[in-house]
Amino acid sequence: MKTKHFCLIIALLCVSMAASAFGTLGHYITGQVAQNNLGSKQAERINAILNNATLPMVSNWADIQKSNPDFKETATWHYNNFESGLTRAEFDSLALTTDRGQNIYQTYQLIDRLQEQPSDTIALKMLIHLVEDLHCPMHFGRPTDRGGNDVPVLWFGNNSNLHSIWDTELIEAAKLSYSEYAEHLERQYDYSGEPFNKKMILDWAWANYQLAEQIYNDIELTTRPYHYMYKYRPLMEAQLHAGGNHLAMVLNSIYQ
Ligand SMILES: [Zn+2]
Repeated sequence: MKTKHFCLIIALLCVSMAASAFGTLGHYITGQVAQNNLGSKQAERINAILNNATLPMVSNWADIQKSNPDFKETATWHYNNFESGLTRAEFDSLALTTDRGQNIYQTYQLIDRLQEQPSDTIALKMLIHLVEDLHCPMHFGRPTDRGGNDVPVLWFGNNSNLHSIWDTELIEAAKLSYSEYAEHLERQYDYSGEPFNKKMILDWAWANYQLAEQIYNDIELTTRPYHYMYKYRPLMEAQLHAGGNHLAMVLNSIYQ
């Protein structure tokens, strides 16, 4: 009986850990969009540092390391926690603090680290993942609900939650491979190619926070999943492309 309870607890822990990660497919897609928009010199330098692995192939590395005791402290770097109703000034003042805007703060830190030491493979793999997480709206959830993980949603008759809808369900519903999805996005959106500066990160984060606000205010619509997909899939896809676009801007700047 005790063994049975132990197994149940382990199983529940595994489910809760899986639910807290940005979906694998989403990371692959944003990684592929970024890869497609690297400059030729930057692609060559990054390829050498990553030992011939592509950006999508290292995009999920940081999520896997959360279970590695050597990277235990990085588990909180993947998300931010903000209350509802912040003004832009309030948001900016909280965004670069380690208890509220960890994802934003650590992205800044890693960019500084790579500007000093561009061949730091671990910092590069971590930055790739964190810029991608920075574009997932449920990584800007409320401090009280673990980024929507504690907001239950009945999705096509199955128990899910608000975090999973945005990190996984909406993306996987298209039934596309990561390269097919990246191609689909690049037919809809162009690479902006703007020169990167770090202040842009706060603008990207603010846009994502505002989308999170809209998502929280529209939870009722999840009871009609087809309507929800009709309304929100385009916004989810815009975020996926923005993640890849911005990641390419950051990397093109560091490795110029
Ligand atoms: Zn993550």
